[in-house]
Amino acid sequence: MDITVGVLALQGAFKEHIQLLREAGQILASKDIVKRKWTFKEVRTEQELTSCDALIIPGGESTAISLVAQRSNMLEPLRDFVKVTRKPTWGTCAGLILLAEAANQTKKGGQELIGGLDVRVNRNHFGRQVESFQADLELPFLYQADGEDFDTSRNPFRAIFIRAPIVEKLLPHVPGIQQDEANMDETVIAPSRAIDEAVAKDIKLADVEIMGRLPGRTAAVKDDATKEKLDAEAGDIIAVRQANVFGTSFHPELTGDPRIHVWWLEQVVEAVDRRRKP
Ligand code: GLN
Repeated sequence: MDITVGVLALQGAFKEHIQLLREAGQILASKDIVKRKWTFKEVRTEQELTSCDALIIPGGESTAISLVAQRSNMLEPLRDFVKVTRKPTWGTCAGLILLAEAANQTKKGGQELIGGLDVRVNRNHFGRQVESFQADLELPFLYQADGEDFDTSRNPFRAIFIRAPIVEKLLPHVPGIQQDEANMDETVIAPSRAIDEAVAKDIKLADVEIMGRLPGRTAAVKDDATKEKLDAEAGDIIAVRQANVFGTSFHPELTGDPRIHVWWLEQVVEAVDRRRKP
């Protein structure tokens, strides 16, 4: 069966995602896990989005992506895709910010969010561009799904963080606006959209799952007030999932390591099969 995966190509590292998706598609074919005909394509218009079964929103600059999306009338189609029809969507870095229901360090009215993940992200948590860094991550969900070659305790996932956000709060899943969040200073929220009733039968909107953490960064955080807030043992939350929406703070598209892309495409296969079953 054919599956079309789009990468939002308004700004940022979309070409790199397409490249890794192609590699991941080949790995899936050679592992013989699933025989599919994959199409990976850049998405700039509503029509292109509508043809997709799943979508990646890349890293880049979330304010720029949001602005271009607004100007090209893509914000509502994107909200529809993520929150109403609930198709599989993965956001990396700026993409995670756009998929959050709330983002801080943002001027009110300064940018629009798509939403879909009940979290508040702290934009630029680690500071400016010069404070970008790489870190070895353990992501147990990869091993659980795909076994030894994906064992990050032996072969860690080298992750690149560039002005990266973290998930600083898991929010309750409430119907309607996240009012407490809306009342906070320098915090923007996404407009709520109700899930399509037919889709709601298959997709249960449970709580947000924490999929990955970055331990031991506390020492690198300069400001003391922030330092106290962090739980050094547990580490910052840098990967989350809620039903159809997955988000990572870092940029797997810049590493050349296709393991997360392989895993995510397998999730897409499951979601598409669920949706297409008679
Ligand atoms: N912090 C950036 C933003 O607000 C995201 C950075 C990135 O995607 N590398 O969009």
